[in-house]
Amino acid sequence: MKVGVLAVQGAFAEMKAFWRAQGAEAFEIRQPPDLERGLDLLALPGGESTVQGKLLADLGLFAPLKARIEDGLPVFAVCAGLILLAENIEGDGTVWFGSLPVTVKRNAYGRQLGSFATQGVFDGRPGVPMTFIRAPAITAVAPGVEVLSTFDGAPTAVRWRGITAFTWHPELAHRPAVFTAI
Ligand code: GLN
Repeated sequence: MKVGVLAVQGAFAEMKAFWRAQGAEAFEIRQPPDLERGLDLLALPGGESTVQGKLLADLGLFAPLKARIEDGLPVFAVCAGLILLAENIEGDGTVWFGSLPVTVKRNAYGRQLGSFATQGVFDGRPGVPMTFIRAPAITAVAPGVEVLSTFDGAPTAVRWRGITAFTWHPELAHRPAVFTAI
């Protein structure tokens, strides 16, 4: 499987290592020609969504990526990547790709609990390590969006059509086998 990892800002090295550990051919997407290498999955890493969104536009990647996502290219999105995909960002008129019918709230866990690690059930599997790093919360999901994990009763991972998106960092979990079905 060929995985294109968006590599304009943030934790793309970890994302690339995660997919390579699963035997995928993972490569970086830094500019439009990188998309011509052919990809079976787009991986959107954690980082700073506002910076990533601006860089995507500046680099000419935004429109081609949006078109491919809308064409059904499978996407694996983490944290800032989820924010880039969300249809709504609470308290913010900004919409980036707007391809995933959920509402997110950025930096939802406040300063004290900004980053933390826990374990939980992911897609029916218990004991999955979940690392939250200045994570957003998913505050609303449209009908048809499948919730794969929750924390304190709120969704923390969702699947919709070809998109799987996390508020936590599965690529830091060191349990790649858990995610092979994605
Ligand atoms: N706080 C970041 C944002 O709002 C997301 C953090 C992350 O990707 N770990 O974009």
